[in-house]
Amino acid sequence: MGRKQTKVESLRLPKEVINELRLRGIKYLTPPQEEAVKKGLLNGENILVASPTASGKTLIAELALINAFLRGRKGIYTTPLKTLANEKYEEFSLWSKIGAKIGISTGDYDEPGEWLDRYDIIVTTYERLDSLFRLRPKWLRRVGVVVIDELHNISDEERGPTIELIAIYALKLGAQIVGLSATLSNPEELAEWLGCKLVLSNWRPVKLIEGFYIKRKSIIVFNDGRTEEVLNNNLIDHIIRNALNQHYQVIIFQQARHRAESMARSIASKIPAIDRNTYLEVMDKFKKYEALRSEIKDLDKLVMHGVAYHHAGLSHGARLAIENSFRSGLIRFVVATPTLAAGINMPARRVVIYTRRFEGGYVKPISIAEYKQMAGRAGRPQYDVIGEAIIADVKDEGEGWRYINGRPEPVKSALISERALRIHTLSLIASGYVEGIDELRDLLRKTLAYRNLLESRGIDITNYVIKNILPRLMEMNMIRADRGYLYPTRLGLTVSRLYVDPLTAIMIIDELEGVGKPIPLYYLTLIAMTPDFTRVRIIGYRGLQREAYSAYESGLIPGPIRGISLFDWLKAYKIGLILNQWINEVDEDYIITTFKIGAGDLNLVIETASWLTYAASRICESVGLKNHANELNKLSLRVRYGVKEELIDLVRIKGIGRVRARLMYMHGIRTIDDILNVGIERIAKIPMIGEVLAKSIINEAEKLKNK
Ligand code: ADP
Repeated sequence: MGRKQTKVESLRLPKEVINELRLRGIKYLTPPQEEAVKKGLLNGENILVASPTASGKTLIAELALINAFLRGRKGIYTTPLKTLANEKYEEFSLWSKIGAKIGISTGDYDEPGEWLDRYDIIVTTYERLDSLFRLRPKWLRRVGVVVIDELHNISDEERGPTIELIAIYALKLGAQIVGLSATLSNPEELAEWLGCKLVLSNWRPVKLIEGFYIKRKSIIVFNDGRTEEVLNNNLIDHIIRNALNQHYQVIIFQQARHRAESMARSIASKIPAIDRNTYLEVMDKFKKYEALRSEIKDLDKLVMHGVAYHHAGLSHGARLAIENSFRSGLIRFVVATPTLAAGINMPARRVVIYTRRFEGGYVKPISIAEYKQMAGRAGRPQYDVIGEAIIADVKDEGEGWRYINGRPEPVKSALISERALRIHTLSLIASGYVEGIDELRDLLRKTLAYRNLLESRGIDITNYVIKNILPRLMEMNMIRADRGYLYPTRLGLTVSRLYVDPLTAIMIIDELEGVGKPIPLYYLTLIAMTPDFTRVRIIGYRGLQREAYSAYESGLIPGPIRGISLFDWLKAYKIGLILNQWINEVDEDYIITTFKIGAGDLNLVIETASWLTYAASRICESVGLKNHANELNKLSLRVRYGVKEELIDLVRIKGIGRVRARLMYMHGIRTIDDILNVGIERIAKIPMIGEVLAKSIINEAEKLKNK
């Protein structure tokens, strides 16, 4: 390796920690790990690590968390996705061997979180951590370190402002901050903002070679000087042939879901079937992880040839099955959208990248940062000597070299939109982090947004907030000001705790104040119009215009509320229709096929709606709209579980989903009391239940009864 390696034994940590590392096969520190330790990782220094994928950033996080634990402090680790949180939770659970208790909390934004006190290391998503900082459970004082993974997300319009606030809350607590990222072109700027020592490294366990395809010359040019001839001007055929001949795996990144799917089909049609046992093994995984029938049916024909597609439209289970099969070598080619590059650990020897994306009516090339994120997936530690990333569609050689040699775009604050500022200004006041205008000004000056806007445009964001955002929040009756002091109103407090946009709350109140007792579809369409629903992706609603107007005229749905475009209204109506099927126990496969949405999208719709109907219910309660509050509360449970009202009691029990609850109901068991009265034999005899589950159902029912 040429450099003097640092042994793990040299870490100033107890023997059992070192032993644990050695058990995992870790003998020496990687260069970024070594540098992080040198710069004071274990002495509580704030550290920002910018180093490539697979360079060992997770272990840096673990060392900081364990070090805090050993000093009697709590550690928090936060990550963009629930799936990543689950993955890290499993990984970190190994530390229970040295007595650390590992916990995870990723949902229920208004749940006070006091119970998390029993854990030493807590894994969260950005939003849940933000909500915990707002709710201020007592144990927050004992937090010693906050690790923020994938810090480059700070420039993301939707998630970025949350990360920025988390960092500021953590600084205010006096906790150590450890930020991690693979693609940062301005790490110095971020490190300075956070008061971090910078660990900058381009060390990779596997060498990455980058190249691009020149169609005109029918060759691939690599940055190590090699070229590869492409026969018949067909890049994909060439990639497949090489991979099959040399027995390696390939990930191809497409920028649109339908392109990923069609390319996967085309590849499968060109290559021979894999052996039957391998195929069956993959199909078993689909069943084990509970992919939907319609997904399995579609992917089956591809898996037969060792191929799959992967995108956010798939159910969580289908994605897990594909990732898992690829990692264990059962699948050879995956055509994916960029979501696969967002933190999921699934490298391949070769990665092929398509760079054109259709956005806002135009075809645009992706950014260098996005390219780097995907290219970084090339090369599997422990298996490959090199990894290769190949860009498939550059317009000329200049563009190819720009992707390869260019610096990724600098990461800038996203805490500059009206929505983000409205949400977070309210939360700062409602949670008591600032009590007056001067304090608000001081705190805002600590944001990255303040620095960025002052430098780039000479704008002072604190003035903007005080002149525009504060008055708007007062108009909305969320806060009050009195001689320089700022107070939240009851509504403001509720809204901040519920983790919704103040505008969402106002839209709901304004609309419902004037109506009597609407049907569920009315409520569902309403919440789907609010700004908190915008991240949900739904297509194919334009043709619904006539139907929507007719529903509106019959009073079945609200009209477009102020500020909502016709298309957003139609989109909300479509979401309302989808949810209405879901709460009437229509089969998921049927919903997906008739409404032409992905299982992953359906899940996001359900999750968002379940949270917003619940929040709407609490908001109505706080302003005295009692009837709506009750209706919305029932509706939120129906949305959460996908059931008619009569099953609400049964689905509260762990282990009973909508299908089993319906079967029990049909067999005359309709309430928790019924479960406790009929005896185990009758429950066990119901299809899909059996003795083991019956026993645990009765147990759970007893627990609920005694609550
Ligand atoms: P990153 O978070 O930077 O993408 P990971 O932390 O996931 O990278 O590390 C990639 C792989 O390298 C993991 O399988 C991890 O167990 C392994 N690894 C990390 N540090 C070391 C080390 N010091 N020695 C050997 N393997 C390591």
